[in-house]
Amino acid sequence: MTGSNDSHNWQTETEIWRHLKDTETKQDFLILVVDDEKIMRLQLRQVIEREGYRLVEARNGEECLQLFKSMKPDLILLDAIMPVMDGFTCCGKLQKLEGGERTPVLMITGLEDKASVDLAFKVGAADYVTKPIHWAVLRQRMRRLIEQSKLHYRLETAIQALQHLASYDGLTQVANRRLFDRHLNQEWQRMAREQLPLSIILCDVDCFKAYNDTYGHPKGDDCLQKVAQVINQAARRPADLVARYGGEEFAIILPKTTQEGAAKLAERIRVSVKKLAIPHKSSSVGEYVTLSLGVSSMVPIREISVSKLIAAADKGLYKAKSKGRDRVVSSRMKLQ
Ligand code: GH3
Ligand code: MG
Ligand code: MG
Repeated sequence: MTGSNDSHNWQTETEIWRHLKDTETKQDFLILVVDDEKIMRLQLRQVIEREGYRLVEARNGEECLQLFKSMKPDLILLDAIMPVMDGFTCCGKLQKLEGGERTPVLMITGLEDKASVDLAFKVGAADYVTKPIHWAVLRQRMRRLIEQSKLHYRLETAIQALQHLASYDGLTQVANRRLFDRHLNQEWQRMAREQLPLSIILCDVDCFKAYNDTYGHPKGDDCLQKVAQVINQAARRPADLVARYGGEEFAIILPKTTQEGAAKLAERIRVSVKKLAIPHKSSSVGEYVTLSLGVSSMVPIREISVSKLIAAADKGLYKAKSKGRDRVVSSRMKLQ
């Protein structure tokens, strides 16, 4: 179960549910044992192996930090008093490493005084057992911490999956309208602060009703997926965002991009979609599926609503349609 799911790109709901299922075995869990005494490490190894978990050993705090980074254990059993770096310092440093906060640390120590116990929890330990070890107690505590970290992992996975479902379009896997609106408002504010241009492209598939009527709705869905993929590949900068704006309409947010730059990109998209050569025998434009695109751009002003930028791109799109489709029309903003 090692590692995080931070950068997971959820493709399908099936994949999400697969990750949420409790399918791990004990062998999937790795415990990092940190103790300077060889005999102690040996005893812990026996208990852990008997329980069925995998294990890796470190002799001091520094080794622990190194191994943590490379092995990403699910639980750390940490001695308090060790040479080179003690357990308290090590535990504090672990919390600052990536994934450190969510990896439980069980301190094992001969120190029973209130100050040591308080310090252990203060630096981030999840639990504390004293030496001489009561092995039955240790076993139960390990099990509980592993169960907790499993639950934590699944909760995180569920949250990420839900966030994805709430922000991406199920059919095309580009952003949905909700994420589009949020991103557009953010970028509008950011570009207003930085006084840089923000551009929008609206794309609409030409004669798509006729496409559905001719080839059927499932083929229509395939076509939308292919078009979305081409648009997504064209918008390459990290702050660019491609979204499904409506049924067969896509929108692209392009921060730090001038009207000329956006128009060039729109033209590239138009050509790329045509090059897909998806047959469309009932199109009024030609033999393949084509796009009409509207472009608008401005350096945002806080007093003006971002809806003006969309309205201008929509006007361009409307013109592109009325001039015969399969073209790009850039529309200048009217500020009044
Ligand atoms: P125009 O060239 O003027 O854009 O004509 P159009 O036929 O593309 O435009 P219209 O708005 O009349 O029709 C859009 C069609 O898009 C109608 C609808 O059935 C189809 N559509 C919308 N969403 C989906 C979808 O998710 N899947 C499929 N297959 N079709 C969709
Ligand atoms: Mg439309
Ligand atoms: Mg259309």
